[in-house]
This record gives sequence, structure tokens and C-alpha cells, in this order.
Amino acid sequence: MNLSLSEQLSGSKGLKGKVALITGSTSGIGLAAAHMLAAQGANLVIHGLVSKDEGLELKAEFERIYKIDVMFSDANIAETEQIDQLMSNIKIEFSRLDIVVNNAGIQYTETLENFPRDKWNAIIAINLSAAFHIMQQAIPLMKQHNWGRIINIASVHGLVGSAKKSAYVAAKHGLVGLTKVAAIEEAPNGITVNAICPGWVETPLINNQIEDFAKQQGTDIETAKHKLITNKQALPVMAKPEQIGDLILFLCSDTARSITGSSLPIDGAWTAL
Ligand code: NAD
Repeated sequence: MNLSLSEQLSGSKGLKGKVALITGSTSGIGLAAAHMLAAQGANLVIHGLVSKDEGLELKAEFERIYKIDVMFSDANIAETEQIDQLMSNIKIEFSRLDIVVNNAGIQYTETLENFPRDKWNAIIAINLSAAFHIMQQAIPLMKQHNWGRIINIASVHGLVGSAKKSAYVAAKHGLVGLTKVAAIEEAPNGITVNAICPGWVETPLINNQIEDFAKQQGTDIETAKHKLITNKQALPVMAKPEQIGDLILFLCSDTARSITGSSLPIDGAWTAL
């Protein structure tokens, strides 16, 4: 009998009554994770840089499909004041927070020598510092119920480097380190903290890289995509966002209660090569 994790969880009480914040859940991995947590009954904070109209449409769609409570936020998490506002709105709306997926992220590729200072600052702020600020404010809420799950979406670039990705690699290595410290500190409080380290995942984040590579190689998009993947991964296919969502769901389950402080690659053997 091959039940999927979602099917197994739906036999239990799932995540009903819990509140999950997934940053960057208007697109890609975050959006897939939002669907999977909502399907388990979690109430959601959907978050991302889309228009208010788009955000409210997404909120209505999730409420209709999953019969859960949903809050939408377009907080720019490069700004600490906007993070503070987001966290205080969550307290007002839900009075609790059980699951945080620090997922929002951006990418920019250039040699270290030519890397624009504003891009460095933005990548460190969004991909690393925002996770710190959010965790700092989420942990006291999780402690109230002696249960919490923090999942930081890092990257293989939290474990190894690649040319032209100085800021991204620095931020993701930082996120892996931050995950370890938080896991050690919060283990006595029923809170697990883990990082997921994906290789290539089929989302809008990597479109520019594929287009640039196709231009550089003088090939079509599909050929460029295949070459980019196989330059790094033994497995010649990108992961789907839902596969990362499944791992997030697993980390939220009781089965995963002893997994904490880990950085879990889901990378088609990228870091094994
Ligand atoms: P995506 O571009 O599809 O989604 C990014 C999300 O982050 C969007 O919702 C966007 O609105 C939000 N966001 C970006 N900047 C923001 C800001 N300043 N304030 C608030 N929200 C902001 O990207 P994705 O591929 O789904 O990436 C999600 C995470 O996964 C990122 O942290 C990324 O580094 C990581 N990751 C992606 C890949 C991949 O191949 N796609 C691989 C490894 C890790």
C-alpha cells in the first residue's frame, strides 16, 4: 500500500488549528508549500510581492478550496519595519504561530569583482537577515504551546559554492548556520529548526539564469536548461516545487520530531559529486 505523505497525514488530525507563515508564498516553492499545508488544515499567512488585488484573490481561493483562515501580506522583508508590522498583524489576526517557512529569496549573478553593492545588500537582507528577524519574533509564540516547526529554505549553495553567486552563497551558508544555532537553543521547547537545501527547482527564480545561459551558448532554452542542470547534478531533471513542499510537510509531522538542526539536500546528487 503506497500512501503519499499527504494521504497518511490526512488520516490523522493533520495540521488543523495550527497557523503557518510561509514567506514568498505567492510563487514557486512557497506557493506549492502553501497548498500542501493548507490541504492538511493549517491556517495560512500567504506572503509575497504581488499586488493587493492578486494577494486578496489568492487568499479567497485558498479559503474557498481548503476552508481555512488566510491572511495575506505584501510586506517587503528587505525592510525590518515591514517585518515587524507583518509579525504584529499575525499576532492580532491569529494570536498564535506554529510553523514558519522562511522561503522568500532572490538571486543575482555576477563575479565578486563586479557584484553591485545594492544587490549584495538586498540578497543578504532578504535571504538571510529576514529569517533572523522573523525567527526572533516567531519563537516566543511557538514557546507558548511548546511546539513549533521552523523550516529555512536554503539551497545547495548553503553547502557548496558556485561562481558568480557570492551574495547568494554567503546568505545561504549563513542561513544554514543560523538554523543550527536556533535548533540547539530551541530543542528543549519542542521547536525543531531545519534547513532544506534544494538543487535546481523549476520556478520563476531561475528563468534569468536559463535565458542568460542560452544566449551565452547560442542554444534554445530547453538545451540550455538541460546543460545547466547536468553541469551540476547527476540527476538530469529539475525538482518540482511540490517535492520541496512534501519535505516541508514531512518536517512538520510528528514523525520528524527528532530531526532538528539538519540541512537536508534535495539536489539530484549535486553535493555528492
Ligand atoms: P520564486 O521567485 O518563484 O519566489 C520567490 C518568492 O519570494 C515570491 O513570492 C516573491 O514575491 C518573494 N519575495 C522576493 N523578494 C521579496 C521581498 N523583498 N519581500 C517579500 N517577498 C519577497 O522563487 P523560488 O524558486 O520558489 O524560491 C524560493 C526559495 O527557494 C528561495 O529562498 C530560493 O533561494 C530557494 N531555492 C530555489 C531554488 C530553485 O532552483 N528555484 C533552488 C534552491 C533554493
